[in-house]
Amino acid sequence: MRSEMEQDILKVLVTEEELKARITELGEELYTRFAGRTPLFLSVLKGSFVFMADLVRACQLKSDVEFIAVSSYENATASSGRVKITHDLQQDITGRDVIIVEDILDSGNTLVFLKQYLMTRGAASITIVTLLDKPSRRTKAITADLAGFVVPNEFVVGYGLDYCQQYRNIPYIGVLKPEVYSA
Ligand code: 5GP
Ligand code: MG
Repeated sequence: MRSEMEQDILKVLVTEEELKARITELGEELYTRFAGRTPLFLSVLKGSFVFMADLVRACQLKSDVEFIAVSSYENATASSGRVKITHDLQQDITGRDVIIVEDILDSGNTLVFLKQYLMTRGAASITIVTLLDKPSRRTKAITADLAGFVVPNEFVVGYGLDYCQQYRNIPYIGVLKPEVYSA
């Protein structure tokens, strides 16, 4: 039976099974890349929290977790491209191999900012892992080191990603019905 929430979903872009299989692969890839090291998985809140939980368990390395929250300064016409930190790192990352865990790479503003910020905080290396990549929307020259799925230029929800803070607990990636936005 579909929940009331799921009745708002127009179509599924990535199923639960596809997510699970791909995250297993990403975990194994990171395990190989970071063998013998102790990376710091850095979740970009809130959107990446579900992906983060699955990714760290798919990668059985000695590692630790950290969280950061950012938001873009918006203005009436468009996102200005400036990003601010709303919840900062709670530990010293000097000399650490940081794995940024992001939900979706869209314009690239967030990750360009974060990469620069983590460098100023002394990270030894920065690896970007994004669950979703929307390359058609990129305005900044940045690519992920690892991406789960390439998605078309549509607004997606589920598996941590929200619309107005909701739908994060849908277990797959989907697109909302147009009437949800106009409601
Ligand atoms: P950026 O444009 O800086 O690359 O991405 C900024 C943030 O916008 C992403 O981390 C994500 O939180 C949000 N975002 C971009 N595209 C989508 C989308 O299709 N769905 C949702 N829910 N959030 C998105
Ligand atoms: Mg995000």
